[in-house]
Amino acid sequence: MKKIKWFAKELSPNMDGERVRVAGWVVRTRDLGKIVFVIVRDSTGEFQLTFKKGVVSDELLNIAKKLTTASAIITEGVIRKAKTKFGFEIIPEKIEVNFSATPLPVDIIGATETELSKRIKWRTLDLRRPKAVAIFKIRSLVVAAIREFFIKNNFVEIHTPSIGIYSAEGGADVFEVKYFDKKAYLRQSPQLYKQLLVGALEKVFEISPAWRAEPHWTTRHLCEFISVDAEIAWINGIDDVLDVLEDLIIYTLEKVRKEGKGCFETLGIEPPNVPSKPFPRVEYEDAVKLLKKAGIPLEGKEIPGKGEEWLGKHIKEKYGTDAFFIIHFPYEIRPFYTMKLEKNGKTLTKSFDLIYRGLEIASGAQREHRYDVLKQQIVEKGLRPEAFGYYLEAFKYGMPPHGGFGLGLDRYTARILQIENIREVILYPRDPLTLEP
Ligand code: ATP
Ligand code: MG
Repeated sequence: MKKIKWFAKELSPNMDGERVRVAGWVVRTRDLGKIVFVIVRDSTGEFQLTFKKGVVSDELLNIAKKLTTASAIITEGVIRKAKTKFGFEIIPEKIEVNFSATPLPVDIIGATETELSKRIKWRTLDLRRPKAVAIFKIRSLVVAAIREFFIKNNFVEIHTPSIGIYSAEGGADVFEVKYFDKKAYLRQSPQLYKQLLVGALEKVFEISPAWRAEPHWTTRHLCEFISVDAEIAWINGIDDVLDVLEDLIIYTLEKVRKEGKGCFETLGIEPPNVPSKPFPRVEYEDAVKLLKKAGIPLEGKEIPGKGEEWLGKHIKEKYGTDAFFIIHFPYEIRPFYTMKLEKNGKTLTKSFDLIYRGLEIASGAQREHRYDVLKQQIVEKGLRPEAFGYYLEAFKYGMPPHGGFGLGLDRYTARILQIENIREVILYPRDPLTLEP
């Protein structure tokens, strides 16, 4: 590939005398009259341009004096060893500038901390901060690791429809869209389609957006998020699914630790430890007992965010690990397609949640693959089998036992980075009030 420009991280004093094309955004200028120093930043680091009277043309010197912070600058010049913090400077021969307006709506120098909502409005500017860049490089690394893991393990990457007529979870939190003269929905997850596809492709995964019209105001719910979905055929029970999820977490954290080192340094945090297999499993009923003792009430039968946090701390103290599973949730709080588990006179499910650093990051289960039972469960949940058309019909023709999970990429990335609000790891978050930018 042709080199368009040199990145800051590629430059070094050893390149003394070399002519380079560099580009980035002005961070600050220091004007000493006959000499102007300009610090320029790109997405990989910083370098210094030195404009000295007599060495560069008066025209260049005058432009340097007028540079504003955040101006885009392209320079062709020569590298010289120098006593700067970089060990070198660049003597410009040619420059091209797209001047930035002043003052800037957000701080990109790091002198003050601009509030999150404002930084998101001005994301492009916000991303000129090395810490913001580091967050999104880690996110990119997490996705790369996830994809690599699945491909290495013979999963097929799939892309299923975002618009459809099934509202998979049967819930109210679904966005309606006008589809010509029909009513359609934005998917809440690729659940139903990925299930159909294991009926032939056996092991599938999808990394794509999902939408929930949840009017929540929390730091872990948004109306649009990226779901990492996997589904596996021929399983013997949830242990086979947990095993895949454990390996996925270990694989991604190992890669992120190794390849994200510089980013963690920029952010001033420790890379995550890699948990070892097997992650602890806590029965839902035992988790509930623990929470009761701790005085944390449930929300109906759901374990609330506070409960996940408390359990996270408890497990960390007991087993020294950040990741554990809650298994066997009651049928009442799991979707119709979940396989039941009759235990101690109670109707539970072959289901699980993965809690990482005190937050649910994934949910999964073995699914019901027997047509008659599935149809019955749709009815039990108060839904109409007719509403599930071709999805349900497909189960008449030899669906394998299967199971899988959906993992929230945004929550996982935020927890890896020890960030509380998932908006920090999403370029343009969508919440009930935010549709722009
Ligand atoms: P919660 O109980 O925390 O609201 P959920 O159980 O409704 O989540 P699932 O349907 O199990 O969510 O979705 C699978 C995963 O997708 C979750 O574990 C989470 O990581 C992610 N996820 C779900 N809803 C959201 C959302 N609104 N914003 C961001 N991520 C989400
Ligand atoms: Mg869940």
